[in-house]
Amino acid sequence: MGNYPASGARAESKTPWGKEPGDGAGDASRDRPERKGPVRTCVACREEAGRAELIRFVRRPDGSVVVDASGRQPGRGAYLHAAPACLELARKRRALDRALGAPVPPEVWSQIER
Ligand SMILES: [Zn+2]
Repeated sequence: MGNYPASGARAESKTPWGKEPGDGAGDASRDRPERKGPVRTCVACREEAGRAELIRFVRRPDGSVVVDASGRQPGRGAYLHAAPACLELARKRRALDRALGAPVPPEVWSQIER
């Protein structure tokens, strides 16, 4: 009678963002996001990036290196940002050659330097 449990409902009302109040403490968990699948890292700047931003290179079983536009070629793959700065860096430092374990031929570079 008159004592219905509606009092607690108010305290639980969420913010429009669905986040718990006090974001200072909640941020700690964002440092280590749960990852699924392999992380793609640009061999030039070592930053992780999504597939759409990266060019995939593959060292095929015969040892040749090709640009893998489809992303499905078998072999050892390495990723590089589709950005002039990263292409330049990787080329200068031979980062891609090292990542693939094979020299990247000039025609591969000319293929991506549009
Ligand atoms: Zn990069």
